[in-house]
Amino acid sequence: MSAEELKTHSAVHVLKGAVQGVLGAKWTASVHVSGSHGRLTVKFDREPTAEELSKIERLTNEKVSEGVELLEFEMERQEAEGHFGDAIYDLFPVPPEVTLLKIVRIPDWSINCCNEPHVDNTIQVGEIRLGKPRFRHSKGELELEFDLVE
Ligand SMILES: [Zn+2]
Repeated sequence: MSAEELKTHSAVHVLKGAVQGVLGAKWTASVHVSGSHGRLTVKFDREPTAEELSKIERLTNEKVSEGVELLEFEMERQEAEGHFGDAIYDLFPVPPEVTLLKIVRIPDWSINCCNEPHVDNTIQVGEIRLGKPRFRHSKGELELEFDLVE
């Protein structure tokens, strides 16, 4: 993962918190990162409004500017599930044989088990700009594209 992709991947965690807050979309179906471009795909049942999108972008950038630490820690899977419930999971399953989870947490914002490396602080992400979203009715998925702004 390049230094740029480290930022883009970390931005996905910040974006996810905003998406959950604004849309209540809890489940991530997939994540794609390439250079400074990222895509977060969540389960959702409709096209988001322009207001919702601008709020998601604004809240993400506010959380970035706030300069919040991304906490990374390892936890026994059973303990993590007991503590955080299914909030740590996405729709792509963690194999059953994995018993120790790496968790990344932005306090009061988002939490996930994730094996990828992250920046230490949201401020390092810079700024994001949301692109035009794609709602796939047949799959019940909303794709949110974004770019890091230099
Ligand atoms: Zn991650």
